[in-house]
Amino acid sequence: MPVGSQIIKIEIFKFEIPLREIVRIAVGSRSTTDNILIRVHTADGLYGMGESSVSAGYSSGENQPIALEAAKGLARLLVGQDSTHIERLHQIMDAFLWRNATIKSGFDIALYDLLGKRLGIPLYTLFGGQKRVIETDLTIGLESFEKTAEKAREIQLQGFRAIKLKFGTNRKDDVGRARAAREAVGREMALRGDANQGWDPGEAPRILHELEQFELEYCEEPVKHWNNDAMRRVREQTTIPIVADESIFDHHDALRLVRIDACDYFNIKLAKSGGFFKALKVNAIAEAAGMRCSIGCKLESRLGLTAAAHLSSALTNIVYNDLDSALALSLDPVIGGITYRGGQITLPDEPGLGADIDPDVLKKLEVVAITAE
Ligand SMILES: [Mg+2]
Repeated sequence: MPVGSQIIKIEIFKFEIPLREIVRIAVGSRSTTDNILIRVHTADGLYGMGESSVSAGYSSGENQPIALEAAKGLARLLVGQDSTHIERLHQIMDAFLWRNATIKSGFDIALYDLLGKRLGIPLYTLFGGQKRVIETDLTIGLESFEKTAEKAREIQLQGFRAIKLKFGTNRKDDVGRARAAREAVGREMALRGDANQGWDPGEAPRILHELEQFELEYCEEPVKHWNNDAMRRVREQTTIPIVADESIFDHHDALRLVRIDACDYFNIKLAKSGGFFKALKVNAIAEAAGMRCSIGCKLESRLGLTAAAHLSSALTNIVYNDLDSALALSLDPVIGGITYRGGQITLPDEPGLGADIDPDVLKKLEVVAITAE
């Protein structure tokens, strides 16, 4: 007889949602999500749901076909295991496949959702924290100056207090976009930047120097994700705080960046840390180094964003939130979960994530695999 918490079945679904409009950033453009849902069932009739937001071309080395194959292999290994032994399950996943953090994050989120449901507590409580209202920015992609100004004004009218601007093209365009946004919204609104690895290491300090007049709170990933030394040199030449995003996935990356003083903040994403388990370690390294964190997203629905919001609510060392991707999707297939009022995010109180996928939507999704004992 299996114990109640034993994993008896794992379902893998393709979860593609068209975007409201094409999103352009320095590493490419997207018109739909390539997400994957992982549903983990245990012997006592509970299930947990996790979302992996995969994007080809990102520094994770995963695209949707690779992630789906990985998911099938991971599911085969996890079925039969005790769902509460989360460290052990990460050891099993890492032994099977190193990195591939995005697909692992779907499994990890489902396991924590299950654990919260089993204990009858929401995830922010499970992580030892409190329910706090957190506040997200809203992102503007690589748009013309006019469109940037127009969108910035719209975002301000919607009640957001921070805008993230995508950069990473060239000095003239990036500075022009920052100027357009700043002039459109005035000095009250916070502006943040993200170069998505788009700048040449020699040019980045010059661009950042020009951006300083627009009072950016920070700028993410100025140069290629593997060029940590260049990020350190860029950081030394600007007053704008530098955030590591594509260059940090797990706690090993965090320690490496701390050792060389490469950045001011870590941007945690569950899709990069392989879920909560290692995101907690990344935050611990940040705290040990006296650094704060931000938390971001890929193209998750409100389900994946609810997961990130639980972590952000629980960890007071996370001070910036960029949890806006659901607002770019043409559909909202999520029941429960976080709610937005302007940029303010309120968490649900139900056990676990407190978010699920609408059963009518789930029925229509392509089932890639069902692995059962
Ligand atoms: Mg980023």
